[in-house]
Amino acid sequence: MSTAINEMNELDFHQRFRTEEDCYKYLVKLKWADGFVCDRCHHTSCTELYHRKFPLYQCKNCHYQASAIVGTIFERTRTSLLKWFMAIWQMATDKRGFSAKQLERNIGVTYKTAWLMLHKIREAMIEREHMYFLNGIVELDEAFFGAPKKGGKRGRGTDKTMVLAAVSLTDDGKPNFAKMEVIPDAKSTTLVNFAYREIAPGTEIRSDAHRSYPKLSESGYHHVAHVFDQNKRPEHLKWLHVIVGNAKKMVTSTFHGLGTKHLQRYLNEFCYRFNRRRFKGEGFGRLLRLCVNSPTIIRRELENTFIP
Ligand SMILES: [Zn+2]
Repeated sequence: MSTAINEMNELDFHQRFRTEEDCYKYLVKLKWADGFVCDRCHHTSCTELYHRKFPLYQCKNCHYQASAIVGTIFERTRTSLLKWFMAIWQMATDKRGFSAKQLERNIGVTYKTAWLMLHKIREAMIEREHMYFLNGIVELDEAFFGAPKKGGKRGRGTDKTMVLAAVSLTDDGKPNFAKMEVIPDAKSTTLVNFAYREIAPGTEIRSDAHRSYPKLSESGYHHVAHVFDQNKRPEHLKWLHVIVGNAKKMVTSTFHGLGTKHLQRYLNEFCYRFNRRRFKGEGFGRLLRLCVNSPTIIRRELENTFIP
């Protein structure tokens, strides 16, 4: 029980979280690390009420009933917390990406439940990403995901899903952080809006000499564009293309190119893993905190688009 959550191995994990109560108590500890504080009036004493599946904490001052589940991805779930914790453990510790089929087998839920759980976790993965800007030198380009329809053209103008990918480089030219976003078109406003949201002002953006990119120079970025040519300029956008290639491999192996509605969540998962690839052993605690701080996606939103 003494192992810190960030240093747990698989055996520690199974010893620490054996029952529903172990998991719930941990969620309570995450919400109120320094003891109970009322969400409404900040009073610090409460009465525990036990007439539900999980206890409620009623503030002794304003009688507000707080829960450690409301406002997390576990809200309204019918799946046990133990199964959720195992799913998060597996998502956090698996290096390549985790499929619903594997989860179905590992924790004994239906395929549909496993699929929903994984998508909710992927949604939580993106929560904090928007708080960070890419900076320094950033490679930026469009990429196309998914199999082309029969007779489809290659490159721009196909039926594939368009994704804007950006990778920041370290001072010695190695990839640092990545962001990827499904975009509706390659118009200059779409590109500039993405840059405003995700790339720090003043950053050097390296890109292909595509027509929509010159707007970036007018928008506070130092824009360096060359026509992409693998023979003449092998270094130009090199890392971006390597990382997009890896993302495509990961997406095809778990996603099988079915539909594009959920592509953004698979990209979230890819970037989440990529951006944390240097962190060792802290994955579970970090991902669990994201799941606790991320309101669940309305179940119906996902169920209507369930792809078996
Ligand atoms: Zn209160």
